[in-house]
Amino acid sequence: MTRLTDLDGETKIVAVIGWPVRHSLSPPMQNAALAELGLNWVYVPFEVSPTRLEVAVEGLRSLNLVGWNVTVPHKGAMADLVDELGDSARVLGAVNTVEVVRGVLYGHNTDGEGFLRALREQQEVIRGKRVALIGAGGSARSIAYAVANDGAAALTILNRTPGRAVEVAELVTRETGLQVRVEGLEAPEAGQVVQEAEIVIDATPVGMHPQTAVPPVVPPQWLHEGQCVCDLVYTPRDTTLLRAARQRGARTLDGTGMLVHQGAIALERWTNTAAPVEVMREALLGALAKRR
Ligand code: NAP
Repeated sequence: MTRLTDLDGETKIVAVIGWPVRHSLSPPMQNAALAELGLNWVYVPFEVSPTRLEVAVEGLRSLNLVGWNVTVPHKGAMADLVDELGDSARVLGAVNTVEVVRGVLYGHNTDGEGFLRALREQQEVIRGKRVALIGAGGSARSIAYAVANDGAAALTILNRTPGRAVEVAELVTRETGLQVRVEGLEAPEAGQVVQEAEIVIDATPVGMHPQTAVPPVVPPQWLHEGQCVCDLVYTPRDTTLLRAARQRGARTLDGTGMLVHQGAIALERWTNTAAPVEVMREALLGALAKRR
């Protein structure tokens, strides 16, 4: 980030819009990256109510922002407000990153690719693997589509409300051709599905602050050595699921990797420059530590 005293007529603006947005970790993470890149840019949070979203987007366009991130609850609505959609954003009907090119708004969804990059960083491979995905909300949709596109051999979505998972499975099958299986989280088959999976992904808020002491979303005895167990929750980083997985001998991935990489991909779209991922991670972890 340009220091506030250095802002001048050439400072470019990027932003995050949400409602609320004060909890967002993107400003410290993105401003650290902009400073590292030596850009005369600043990244600011805008709290925009759903009723003002459309007018806010036209304002951002008029103000010549380079782009912005989009967080809850605006990801779906933003898909209807941009001019063009990237592949993931079109399929998922949700935009988390907007890039402005000569006044045209391009909507992208970097969540799924962010998750894949976080996995690859730990030398984990999706291609050819059996994946169990728990949850069928917004983040699970992004991950299901990304995992299917990345060559998973099999994908089963387990959800508390199976009907919601059926909808996600049908979407992914239609778009990628992978036959996606659905099970209820409480179904008798759930244990076997998780035990046979090589990659287990928890895309539910179970274990998230303040309810950090709750039992893991699946019984620990379903987890074992040879699996990679991922939790999207990042407050705290070390959830009851990840602790149980480690005790059972599994490899683990916490939610900070996805958060850093979805932001890094957004930054790369805006700047056409490789993102300083380690600087972003350090800023994110610093901001998380301040919250404790
Ligand atoms: P969401 O759209 O609200 O979906 C939540 C999902 O979790 C639903 O499938 C829901 O099941 C399930 N669920 C909720 N409580 C449950 C419980 N007690 N037991 C079993 N299943 C439960 O949420 P989301 O936006 O996908 O976010 C999910 C989590 O991912 C959140 O903790 C969020 O902070 C995290 N996240 C992390 C990143 C990252 O970058 N690391 C990015 C996005 C989200 P039903 O369908 O039955 O309600």
